[in-house]
Order: sequence, then structure tokens, then C-alpha cells
Amino acid sequence: MKRLRAQEARIVSLVAADAALLHVTPPHVRFVTTSAGPCYEALFNRIELDRATLALPEPLLRIVVAHEVGHATQRRTMLLDFAFTVMFLMALLSIPCIVFALAPDEELWRVSVPGIGFVLAFFACMKKRRAHAASRAAMFELDADAKAASICGAASALAALEAMASRGWIDAARIEAMRMRVHGRR
Ligand SMILES: [Zn+2]
Repeated sequence: MKRLRAQEARIVSLVAADAALLHVTPPHVRFVTTSAGPCYEALFNRIELDRATLALPEPLLRIVVAHEVGHATQRRTMLLDFAFTVMFLMALLSIPCIVFALAPDEELWRVSVPGIGFVLAFFACMKKRRAHAASRAAMFELDADAKAASICGAASALAALEAMASRGWIDAARIEAMRMRVHGRR
């Protein structure tokens, strides 16, 4: 238990050092017992680290921490993305509410046709929005990897990504981007 506490304290100071290098407010660190893998929560400016991550060899752990602190540099953009998504959804959902509010009762059957059109358009918009969110998330991951590489060195970051890929935490695009960083663009 004492060893765990000492390790947690060391990670908090590692987070502070990485945050200073990246010129960002140090995120809080929450140590959890689940095995969901490490993650960053923009809303609370908080990094979550699970036990399996804490058990990683030192060089890997350093890169995971640097990557998560890298996400803290994206906090403003992540929060704005979230706010735009909420605003977009609310604006979209307000359309049928306004139509129904303004239509006289006896003409409600007439709005059912545009209503169906709206539902179809709504799902098309949501699908597009989800694809957009996925590409933004991928971009955030690549950027956090780049920040980790700027702290720990690209070669160590690549070795860490390759080691973590075997745990299923990393997708191929991130490894490929880091390989390009290490070996140069072809
Ligand atoms: Zn990440």
C-alpha cells in the first residue's frame, strides 16, 4: 500500500513536470481500480489512471503520462467541440418543436410529412456528426502522441506505442504516424 502511495505521488509530480514543459495547467490525477485504460476528461481537467497502467514498465508509463498531459493542452478545443455539439443538437431538435407549436391543431396531420422528412434528415445529420467526432478524436490522439514525443523522444514514444498495441489500446494509424515521425516521411 505504501509503495502504491509513493508511486501515485511520483506520478503526480511527473504530471506537473510534463505540464510545465507543455505550458499547461497540470491536470488532476485520479487513480482508479477499473481496467478501462488511461484517459483524459476535459470537463474536469483530469487524468484517470488504472492499476494496469501503473504496473507498466517505467518508460511506457512515462509516455502514457506525457500523452495524457498532451490531451490537457487540447482542453479548450475539446470543450468547444462539446459545446458546439450540444448547441447543434438543441438547434436541430428545436425545429420540430417550433413547427408543432406554430401549426394550428387541425393542421397537425399536414406536418407529419415534413415531420418524417425531419426525422430522416436528423439521422443523416447525426451520422455525419458522429463521423466528424470520430475524426476529431483521432486528430486529438495524434496530437497527444506528438506532444508525448516532444517530451520523451519520438523513438521511445514509438516503442511505447508498439508495446501498448499488443494490449489493444492503440490503433494502427497512431503507430504509423509515429513511425513517420521517427523514420521521416517517404
Ligand atoms: Zn489519448
